[in-house]
Amino acid sequence: MFGNYFTHGKAAESLAGDRARMVDTQLRSRGIRDERLLAAMAKVPREEFISSEDVADAYGDFPLPIGAGQTISQPYIVAAMVEALEVNPEDRVLEVGTGTGYEAAILAELAADVWTIERHAELVDKAREILQRLGYADVHVLHGDGSLGLGEHAPFNKILVAAAAPRVPETLVSQLADGGRLVVPVGSRSEQQVEVMRKLGDQISITKHDRCRFVPLVGAQGWEL
Ligand code: SAM
Repeated sequence: MFGNYFTHGKAAESLAGDRARMVDTQLRSRGIRDERLLAAMAKVPREEFISSEDVADAYGDFPLPIGAGQTISQPYIVAAMVEALEVNPEDRVLEVGTGTGYEAAILAELAADVWTIERHAELVDKAREILQRLGYADVHVLHGDGSLGLGEHAPFNKILVAAAAPRVPETLVSQLADGGRLVVPVGSRSEQQVEVMRKLGDQISITKHDRCRFVPLVGAQGWEL
């Protein structure tokens, strides 16, 4: 009888309050300025993407476990990476590392067409189900090695890698459209820096952003298992 009001024991109203506070205290206060992105972060129900035991922490300022030994990043890191991507409404976007599907839902609020790829089949199945249930059925969720991108669906205007790479994956650069941007954490297995690569004709420019700690990108253009 309380099915619509309570989400795994916490009142939906209270979760909406947590979400609004997260946007103000973790995102705006730390310099996230893109209003479309802030509206998307204020809309997408993060609690739906995580396990029921963690719902009380859905809007905590820290990563959470998502199964298969993986994590969902803290909200600020999601926002900082998506802001660096500079998504336009007409963009085709590729995300590498679907995890829960949360970031793909944020991207779907901002872009025309979202493709996301994940190497763990169990996470792919869960993310597909959640995205469909929440009305993001247009997001294409694929299973495979995303370090090799999705050649058959390239080019993409924007590519976001949500796992740590030892170097910028060349194949992903080749799948960027002219004028495109690639955002990827690059570094060692224990610490990385977010790199933003822009492609303009034959010219590639790279800027370095926040320090971060991501789970490894495991694959042909990433780390060995
Ligand atoms: N964006 C996700 C979300 O919103 O829940 C969180 C991403 S999590 C930090 C990184 C994900 O990248 C993990 O689920 C991991 O299994 C995945 N991953 C690692 N290497 C990969 C690869 N080569 N191809 C696709 N996914 C990969």
